[in-house]
Amino acid sequence: MSRRPVAQINLAALGHNLQRVQQLAPASKVLAVLKANAYGHGLVKVAQALTAADAFAVARIDEALALRTAGIVKPIVLLEGFYEAAELPILLANNLQTVVHNELQLMALEQAELDGQLKVWLKIDTGMHRLGIAPEQFAEFYRRLWQCPAVQPGIRLMSHFCCADIPGSDKTEQQQALFQLLCSDKAEQQSLANSAAIISLPQSHADWVRPGLMLHGISPLPNQSGQQHQLQPVMRLSSRLIAMRQVQAGETVGYGGNWQAKVTTWIGVIAIGYGDGYPRHASNGTPVWLEGREVQLVGRVSMDMITVDLGECPTETIGAEAVLWGPELAIERVAQCADTIPYELLCNITPRVNYQYLTGQ
Ligand SMILES: *Cc1c(COP(=O)(O)O)cnc(C)c1O
Repeated sequence: MSRRPVAQINLAALGHNLQRVQQLAPASKVLAVLKANAYGHGLVKVAQALTAADAFAVARIDEALALRTAGIVKPIVLLEGFYEAAELPILLANNLQTVVHNELQLMALEQAELDGQLKVWLKIDTGMHRLGIAPEQFAEFYRRLWQCPAVQPGIRLMSHFCCADIPGSDKTEQQQALFQLLCSDKAEQQSLANSAAIISLPQSHADWVRPGLMLHGISPLPNQSGQQHQLQPVMRLSSRLIAMRQVQAGETVGYGGNWQAKVTTWIGVIAIGYGDGYPRHASNGTPVWLEGREVQLVGRVSMDMITVDLGECPTETIGAEAVLWGPELAIERVAQCADTIPYELLCNITPRVNYQYLTGQ
């Protein structure tokens, strides 16, 4: 029996979720966002499974090159763009499209002498205030990019929402209005919507939608489940029960003794901890699925283990399978108990976890 935690990745669910995106945004192309190792699911395997996506987006060039090395031929967009002029020939040689969000990038493109032309996405900061040119700079960037010999005609236009996951946010409306004001007379393809906007703001879908989290079956909207939006969880993270012991009322469990048994009970030890990416801040009461029932985390999360309350007369035995999140237990609930978001839980999974890719349903 392997005691390594396992992340089973259901590739059929990934395909289903992509279809769901296409149903929600039938007039848009899909730029599937695969940054951070495809949200911890495995960059190359996920890209290979998303055959129906129109293009992929990653944050950084090394992620894009890893996809090319693996034989992925779809267009790839670098969401953070390039950092220095020396990267431009690499972008061209690998058919990578770049976001342009600052003056240095613009100048590098103006001065570039390339054997071909790059596809460029001009990113406008409409209110996120992270990446993007200011609205006042738009006209000038647009004009200068059109004049660049190194840039393909047809500059794509994009922006990013800061509050799309907050229903009815004024900020989202303002961002959309500003984007429209700048871009509505432009014939070029446009893109605004992340997962939250794909679900809740159909008017923002435009030519390209950019789903990340929802492809993995998780709700981007707080207090809602992926299931509610007909998404299927892609990852199932599991491990095994490796020890059981009875503790008396009043005894404490784990580091710091931060949980105390009120009554005599059985404690189960499961082989997963923060060294595997299970959140150390998961609080007492975080649900764990154990062979058909939900039990609760008690005591602090250790590096390699967690402890759960099995109750007075457990029927489980050592070797029982525990699911930390997956179809049996929504990751959204675990994230809430750990005071974080599903995105972070997924990205934090460490290489100690054994990945298994399942193709059938
Ligand atoms: C991460 C990211 C997305 C995808 O966001 P989700 O909330 O995971 O759908 C889309 N666009 C940009 C620019 C991003 O950085």
